[in-house]
Amino acid sequence: MHKNFKNIDKVVFGRGSLSTLASILEPVRKENDHFFLYVVDQYFHNKDLIQKLPVQDADVLKWIDVDPEEPTTHLIDRLRDEILNEKGLPSGVIGIGGGSIMDIAKAVSLMFTNEGSSTLYQGLNLIKKPGIYHLGIPTISGTGAEVSMTAVLTGPEKKLGLKCDWTVFNQVILDPELIATVPSDKWFYTGMDTYIHCIESEQGLLNNAFSHAYADKSLQLCREIYLGKDAGQTPENDDKLMVASLMGGLSLTYSEVGICHALSYGLSKILHYKHCYANCVAFQHLEDYYGEGVREFKQMLAQHKIQLPQNLSKDWTEEQIEAMAEVAYKLDHMWKHAIGADWKEKITITDIQNLFKRL
Ligand code: NAD
Ligand code: ZN
Repeated sequence: MHKNFKNIDKVVFGRGSLSTLASILEPVRKENDHFFLYVVDQYFHNKDLIQKLPVQDADVLKWIDVDPEEPTTHLIDRLRDEILNEKGLPSGVIGIGGGSIMDIAKAVSLMFTNEGSSTLYQGLNLIKKPGIYHLGIPTISGTGAEVSMTAVLTGPEKKLGLKCDWTVFNQVILDPELIATVPSDKWFYTGMDTYIHCIESEQGLLNNAFSHAYADKSLQLCREIYLGKDAGQTPENDDKLMVASLMGGLSLTYSEVGICHALSYGLSKILHYKHCYANCVAFQHLEDYYGEGVREFKQMLAQHKIQLPQNLSKDWTEEQIEAMAEVAYKLDHMWKHAIGADWKEKITITDIQNLFKRL
């Protein structure tokens, strides 16, 4: 299988590079109804960032609280309908925040031009028309959502991305100054998503020289950021983390994630755990699959005094464990990559339930 992946059209990188936003947007304002939609993480409400944004009177700025729930199809449909009814078709969408905001910006840009509910388009290549211009400015690094070709949405029936070439951002601005305020626990969990992306991308069938090169460099950066004497939240490490996140995302795009992400999807879908935290909760117990990676992960946990909960499964019902195992079992591509084409002969749904019982 040869993957033909659409990359981001343009990327700016560097401290203070947010200042390039005005000149980047200027030519785009000619498009459609000459206004921009900004979707910005609520965290930045009443913070200095707002003064640095070239928001004009005609533009619409929406603050979004990403903490109560991961982005939903309902939120995207409502946002699209509201803007179209009140203002018309924007010249573009600018997303400023973490993975949740990246996905909201990507999804809404597609839904401005594709009729009906976003639930109709959850899956691969179901989107019919290109969306409008969209630009991403990450403020917390690790998920790789800034570079991926999917916008993950939770709908009434499934948690699944709008996945196609048009999902990928037209422009990304990577300004490491923006991640300086991330609290240390979130800095750890989200950064570990990158680390786990790379470990899983490397250890499986689909790994190849291309995905390996990105994972290798991203892992080296993760080790500098999270292990050793210069580890921690420093400006130098913030620069590195933004690049590591992007490269981790590229690595898994050309390869695949594995068992940890399959379990993590179960935890998110059934128990509403956040993606990066769910990965950390699961990864610590996967030493028999990702031995070296898990040992190194535990060193990172110790160095940053992060304590993950233990014995969680004793409070889960059998039904919840079965439901999580069902979600994980359906992620055929992840198991195939991690275990092999004949994975169903080696792993049963009961084995997956037992993996959840380890947590
Ligand atoms: P997030 O966007 O959910 O934000 C996490 C927290 O960090 C929030 O409380 C937010 O307010 C806060 N925050 C963000 N920037 C901050 C800053 N500079 N200072 C202080 N606080 C800040 O976090 P995430 O972990 O980046 O994203 C998770 C989401 O990404 C999930 O919805 C998941 O489904 C999605 N995801 C998408 C992909 C993809 O490829 N599209 C991949 C992995 C995960
Ligand atoms: Zn992930």
